[in-house]
Amino acid sequence: MSVFRDSLTSGDGVNSVPGGFVCMDASEIERVAVLGAGNMGHGITEVVAIAGYDVTMRDVEEEFVDSGYEDIEWSLDKLDEKGRIDESADDVLDRIDITTDLETAVGDVDLVIEAAPERMALKQEIYGELDDFTPDDAILASNTSSLSITEIATAVDDPERVVGTHFFNPPVKMDLVEVIYGERTSDETAEAAHAFVESLDKTPIYVRKDVQGFVVNSVLGPFMVEPAWMVSNSEATIQEADAAMVHQRGYPMGPFELGDLTGIDIGYSVREEAGIENPPLIEEKVEAEELGRKTGKGYYDYEEGEGADYEPGDGEGFDTLRVEAQMVNEAAKLIGQDVATPEAIDTGMRLGAGFPEGPCRRADDIGLDRIIEKLEALHDETGEERFAPADYLVELGESGKTGADAGQGFYSHGDGDERTYHDLNYEIDDRGVLAIELDRPERLNALSQDLLEEIDHLLSTTDPDELRCVTIEGTGERAFSAGADVTGFADTEPADVLRATPTYETVAEFPRPVIAKIEGFCLGGGHELALACDMRIATEGSKFGQPEIGLGLIPGGGATQRLTRLVGAARAKELVFRGHQIDAATAADWGMINRAVPANELDNAMEEVLADIVNGPPVGLEVAKKVMNEGADADLDAALTLERQGFSILMGTDDVAEGTAAFREDRDPEFEGR
Ligand code: NAD
Repeated sequence: MSVFRDSLTSGDGVNSVPGGFVCMDASEIERVAVLGAGNMGHGITEVVAIAGYDVTMRDVEEEFVDSGYEDIEWSLDKLDEKGRIDESADDVLDRIDITTDLETAVGDVDLVIEAAPERMALKQEIYGELDDFTPDDAILASNTSSLSITEIATAVDDPERVVGTHFFNPPVKMDLVEVIYGERTSDETAEAAHAFVESLDKTPIYVRKDVQGFVVNSVLGPFMVEPAWMVSNSEATIQEADAAMVHQRGYPMGPFELGDLTGIDIGYSVREEAGIENPPLIEEKVEAEELGRKTGKGYYDYEEGEGADYEPGDGEGFDTLRVEAQMVNEAAKLIGQDVATPEAIDTGMRLGAGFPEGPCRRADDIGLDRIIEKLEALHDETGEERFAPADYLVELGESGKTGADAGQGFYSHGDGDERTYHDLNYEIDDRGVLAIELDRPERLNALSQDLLEEIDHLLSTTDPDELRCVTIEGTGERAFSAGADVTGFADTEPADVLRATPTYETVAEFPRPVIAKIEGFCLGGGHELALACDMRIATEGSKFGQPEIGLGLIPGGGATQRLTRLVGAARAKELVFRGHQIDAATAADWGMINRAVPANELDNAMEEVLADIVNGPPVGLEVAKKVMNEGADADLDAALTLERQGFSILMGTDDVAEGTAAFREDRDPEFEGR
């Protein structure tokens, strides 16, 4: 049983919708059918079964379902080996049925996810059959990446129950799912699909109108196409574009490298069908059947050459703003047409395309005035419609909302209560525990400048008197934080690096105990963040290290000093000089972490420590932290003086009076922090 169905059970589980359509409530989804056992279908089936649902996978031929099932078996075994699933692979497989018969697959389901080939006529034929065979209240979801949900839905009597659920490839690894409204999709259907996706432990974003490319592919369009125009016009080379986008702007792959990976013909036909002109370079590649990795040759040569052969320095002089301004323009069109919010777009691009940060966020930092100016200049110069600034972008510019410097752009950048954090989540529970979650799982929670700044801002603006303790952890099970985000390093100004440094001090000096809860990689800057905490509790599978030397660097967030004080010079030097990772048992043995526990005991281990701290005397703990931190840097006499001073300050506090009274009366003390 998934958490979702336990936590969302409500009423009779059926929602009445104006117009007479009665749709499945999200909490009622139990049986799922996936149509298609290909690339996406088998992956979606696997994800759905892992989340605890019974699922039937259907394809048209026995050999296709068998092959999809084998792929699932292989993948589940891998997940099992790595400890990424809570049950055995066999337990998950027990929930999966396979069939070639449509009626058997969908006769009593609550939700169908269709992942058949990308042809409208075929999809409509399938939906026509689904109309006959599925229960009337079943939700019909399509995994299409480029076809219109509205058009697909014309094949069923009741288009209100048809919705898009666009998973990304491979579904097991990719966190994002776009939930797309067709013109007639009901809110109930879309909301149920959204909640269902959340129950799979994936991140859904709403695409509120059925636009070509939905969100991710719309914004990704210019990333792929504009550099191809520039190369076609001899304004740049392939290597220049890829090197600049990767090494200056931090994208995980260059546009041409990505085109080779996804297949040059795929984007080509999507654009052709959508009536978008393809640049000559792309036309030539398709005509020559040089389609990318799959044909051995595309923009790069993978058979006779070495594949992508650009060097970090090659990007010099490439006009990255021309490409990014157009992605921002696409985002602005989507927002202006109420297709998606800036948050949804940024989440989509981070999780769906691996972007280091979303285009709206980045645009606010660049300055929307600069972006509009760039688009207008290109528009004037070339007369090309694709450069015309979107109405919404112009509106923001005209109303002075030009980004972070102006305090408002796509987002509000006000300080204090208004501040929204993008790279971290936090909550304060009723015991006064501030739990901070580093939220960049797609980058293994790597510390970007923005994330460090957000931690600093949160701790600097939260009143410590309202807190008893702070915990820091990473989102997901793979990493606490795998280090500083070194993508785009070449573009980092030394001043930016220095700007980040106070965060570690803010954590180390925060007047309440700070505990790192570590699961997975804890490396580089991430490890330094953990070192700035007062205690570290980790899972046995966690890995620790300072790999900076491999980049020709040294740690810059305090490790050379804090690590030396914690584990002694010899061990600290071994970690810093060799750049190797050590496991949690060694880290515990060296005194780098307080303890290493099995993954399923991490929460309990944290709770045990927290229980003492939240009930402890806040002032006593504050003085203890200060005296111990400062004393470590002083000679023994000075340190002992600090301790004596701390002791006498505490003697006059209400908490000490309460502590001693409780001791005499043989009861638990109730400290108030005075
Ligand atoms: P695929 O060709 O790997 O698999 C499609 C499967 O559907 C085939 O096994 C085929 O035999 C089967 N099929 C054909 N008719 C069927 C029917 N009537 N009922 C059930 N199964 C039927 O394709 P794919 O890459 O898995 O793509 C499936 C869908 O997912 C497409 O709409 C595609 O646009 C979309 N999508 C693909 C990707 C990707 O990267 N491959 C990513 C996101 C979305």
